[in-house]
Amino acid sequence: MPAPAHTATTRPGLFGPDNLPYGLFSTADEPGARRIGVRFGDAVLDAGAAARAFRSPHARLLTAPDLNPLLAAGRPVWRAVRAALRDWLGSPGHRATVAPLLLPLDTVTLHLPFRVADYVDFYASEHHATNVGRILRPDAAALTPNWKHLPIGYHGRAGTVVVSGTPVVRPRGQGRPGTGSDRPAFGPTRRLDIEAEVGFVVGTPSEPGRPVPQTAFRDHVFGVCLLNDWSARDIQAWEYVPLGPFLGKSFATSVSPWITPLDALDAARVAPPERDHPLLPYLDDEGLEPGGLDLRLTVRINGHPVSEPPFATMYWTAAQQLAHLTVNGARLRTGDLFASGTVSGPEPGQRGSLLELTWGGRDPLTLPDGTSRAFLEDGDEVTISAWAPGPSAGSRIGLGEVTGRVAPAH
Ligand code: CA
Repeated sequence: MPAPAHTATTRPGLFGPDNLPYGLFSTADEPGARRIGVRFGDAVLDAGAAARAFRSPHARLLTAPDLNPLLAAGRPVWRAVRAALRDWLGSPGHRATVAPLLLPLDTVTLHLPFRVADYVDFYASEHHATNVGRILRPDAAALTPNWKHLPIGYHGRAGTVVVSGTPVVRPRGQGRPGTGSDRPAFGPTRRLDIEAEVGFVVGTPSEPGRPVPQTAFRDHVFGVCLLNDWSARDIQAWEYVPLGPFLGKSFATSVSPWITPLDALDAARVAPPERDHPLLPYLDDEGLEPGGLDLRLTVRINGHPVSEPPFATMYWTAAQQLAHLTVNGARLRTGDLFASGTVSGPEPGQRGSLLELTWGGRDPLTLPDGTSRAFLEDGDEVTISAWAPGPSAGSRIGLGEVTGRVAPAH
């Protein structure tokens, strides 16, 4: 007897019933219609069609053309929808209804799943900040005096956040004047880099003027994605003093197509590294539930693994970042995206940027195909993937991947 389609198209693996990340897809039949999907094994559940089939009270949210209405609905609704999805996908009695709504992943096109409101990027890895300090400011202290007192960040460009798979055109811009010249260099960047990061997606907005404490983190943040903060190091080095990153970063930020709900990552919660400086009360996380996440990242260039950054080593947690982001009264909006900053661990093979992996270009990487890289070349494809421990022994929660190929400058 043939297995039901429900089991034939789904191997739980990294995307079993404890994961259920949300995305946005279209099919070849209706390329203009964007539909909310939930990944299950190697299939995508048409969540809106399922909501209608099961007469869900949340059908309006799941038939929307992006995730924003669901994000805005708040945590009690997120939990109710997640419980319903687990029931629809897990109950044998629902198989006949669900099977036709599960589409093979390789037959759909995935899109940016939410409308990005504001985009903020932090700098939360002590290992990354120390490496960068040593490379860029070898004669000064590696960490700036403020680093252990606040999560450093900057506002990025929401309009150039793109979904995984979108080509990244090599940016052009100014660089430092060459030796003996008093005019800045100009042209396509020669130091195109990546930053392997984790992104946090805000659902519930907040009121202007009212800071969001760390304890309200899960009421406001819906879930997690993977993020590549593409960086042009030569443009960045010339422009960043004194106001910080600008055109060296704003040309593209890639995110993974699947947003993993925070509720899927409960088993991955870990304590952050021990704090060695006393923190102001709004940032103090002593006695709060653990704010770190045990996410295991892998960075590949043209398919070859070059680094395995451990997110659990991040000094500042996402809850601290959210508290800092709003402590001045700045309000949150649905679709706000804040990124962790480059994830780098203590070991050389755990660094999340080529700047660190090649120590500023001094020690190029040799790839298994015999070529070497100080920075990225046209045609290179960079993929960041990750997984986290799941709730049962040995199980894993997949975060999917964010990938992008470098296209030549225009
Ligand atoms: Ca960054």
